[in-house]
Amino acid sequence: MLKIDHFKKIDAHIHFNAGRKSLLTLAENYNFDLLTINTEVPNFPSIQKQRKLAQQSSSSREVQLHHAATFSTKNIFKNEWAEQTIQHIQQSIDEGACGIKFWKNIGMTIQRPDNSFLMPDDPELKPVFTYLENNQIPVLGHQGEPKNCWLPIEEMTVKSDQDYFGSHPKYHMYKNDEYPDYMEHVEARDNVLSRHPNLTFIGLHLASLEWSLDELSRRLDNHPNLAVDLAERIAHLYHHTAQDRNKVIDFFHTYQDRIIYGTDIIDDPAIPVSQVKKKLETRWNNHWSFFSTNQLLRSDQIEDTFKGLDLPTSILEKIYRTNALQWYAVK
Ligand SMILES: [Zn+2]
Repeated sequence: MLKIDHFKKIDAHIHFNAGRKSLLTLAENYNFDLLTINTEVPNFPSIQKQRKLAQQSSSSREVQLHHAATFSTKNIFKNEWAEQTIQHIQQSIDEGACGIKFWKNIGMTIQRPDNSFLMPDDPELKPVFTYLENNQIPVLGHQGEPKNCWLPIEEMTVKSDQDYFGSHPKYHMYKNDEYPDYMEHVEARDNVLSRHPNLTFIGLHLASLEWSLDELSRRLDNHPNLAVDLAERIAHLYHHTAQDRNKVIDFFHTYQDRIIYGTDIIDDPAIPVSQVKKKLETRWNNHWSFFSTNQLLRSDQIEDTFKGLDLPTSILEKIYRTNALQWYAVK
């Protein structure tokens, strides 16, 4: 059995919001580099603070801490927003960011004065996407939510979605039908991919198509510029594996160059670091058992048992490292 520290890996989706060094030590012990994704989340530290935390710890001992930058949407309906945002993006890239994050607030929460929702394919964002495409700057896109978000809690397929939407009713769209529906988010994102065929686009969270590997495969086939990360959606893969393990294995073989590992762990300064470390360690170990062994596994996320995917080392190295290096062009 391949041990988890056998080769250098990257957890390409974390939020290093507290800047605590002991997470870096843990990563060193597990032979992980990290990529922290700055995001405009209301209860996260400011974008400036997140960037500082990433830069301060960028190469501590053996662990590389890469970062993706983001931008403020505060003045998004003002004429000068696009130009100022492009300047900010270029400065972030010059300072070492490996890509630019677009969060779900675009589509889910930002409204014009007439109450219409700003969607990713709206004209306000077009010059920014064009700039990113022309300058080969990767986009990290989290659009919409898992499809479970549009279902009642008891019909959701994994426990983490039940927990999240149970405690964040504002984002539980089943209860908010005046908001754009699930397919509107997916279509708006697909429009961006079609209009900008040379844009490098990493669809975070399995591109919000976690509920159907067929739908996800169709997007990957239609858009060669699209890769996906696994962050916070591996439980959905457990669910698929419990139903049809070979289909999941086929998916990983077919798209082995376009899948990027990440946990979406949040180093929240309000939570004791020992707790965050424990959660991260548990995730790393559980995910490793799932991808690298053929053991019969259980998870508190789904009811059924499922067998590990037993992926070959060559594919493990791609999803755990090489794909992140290539798609994010990190040095
Ligand atoms: Zn995240």
